[in-house]
Amino acid sequence: MAAHQAGFVESIGKTPLIRLNAASESTGCEIYGKAEFLNPGGSVKDRAAWWMIREAEKSGELRPGGTVVEGTAGNTGIGLAHICNARGYKCVIYMPDNQSPEKVEILRTLGAEVRVVPTVPYKDDNNYQKQAGRYAATLNHAVWANQFDNTANTLAHYESTGPEIWEDTDHEVSAFVCSVGTGGTIAGVSRYLKEQNEEVQIILSDCMGSALYNHVTTGETVMSEGPSITEGIGNSRVTDNFAEARVDWAVQIPDQAMVDLVYRILREEGWFLGSSSGINICGAIEVAKKLGPGHTVVTMLCDTGNKYQSRLFDREWLATQNLTVSD
Ligand code: PMP
Repeated sequence: MAAHQAGFVESIGKTPLIRLNAASESTGCEIYGKAEFLNPGGSVKDRAAWWMIREAEKSGELRPGGTVVEGTAGNTGIGLAHICNARGYKCVIYMPDNQSPEKVEILRTLGAEVRVVPTVPYKDDNNYQKQAGRYAATLNHAVWANQFDNTANTLAHYESTGPEIWEDTDHEVSAFVCSVGTGGTIAGVSRYLKEQNEEVQIILSDCMGSALYNHVTTGETVMSEGPSITEGIGNSRVTDNFAEARVDWAVQIPDQAMVDLVYRILREEGWFLGSSSGINICGAIEVAKKLGPGHTVVTMLCDTGNKYQSRLFDREWLATQNLTVSD
């Protein structure tokens, strides 16, 4: 029989590295994007979702018929909802009320119970993440996935994404460039790659309105000027996952550069990507220019542009954010 996958969770990972042609040719480097949008739930977060559930199963915290609870506005919830169906768990998602209705709909279609709660800052006790944690504590056989501070998220990328990049570049990766939401990706990949070769450079590509560029560059976790229309990335604090990351330096990418890139790569190369992939590729180009020709630079293509039709790919909406699309 031809090659086959055993099921949903077995289909997560082993995504191909795609050569980004224009970016490579303009810098004289080989720039590759890891096609995380090919994961079965459609994003990089399938890996974190599965590892968090897997670790909870292993510890006995999660048993058949149990419930997974998470505070999330996007891809982690989608990954969890798919995996809960595949493994027989209930899925409850807390989400702030400033998110697009499409996100609520998709999660409900996948079978999750979605609880939309008022949008309040992280420090507020009624923040959606904290409500998720409190609710999970009231149930029997339930876990709060807690993607920001649950380091099973980092472990996912240490055990899967990092080794895949190392093997698929024939051990020749010079630099890994990545934006950060929870920090799981950059933490797991950086720890694995540095263990193979301490010389591999790890670079944070940060969006505006996040404190992480300043954290890496000056040591002070203060917010940079925002806002940013990017989704799923940027953070005001150092999570337990990001604390594990081994970052050498950072670049900061304005939204207009990201918008220019995602439209150009769609028109010229056919790749329909979301905003975090745009921030990542802009960062990879900056890093390649700084390193000079002949280097191998890897970044992440986290999800596709599909979820961003009404914002990033709506020119009228972009204009309301003072962002333009050049034809
Ligand atoms: N891009 C997208 C589209 C995401 O949903 C996320 C996760 N929030 C990230 C990037 C960031 O990945 P991580 O949480 O591993 O830092």
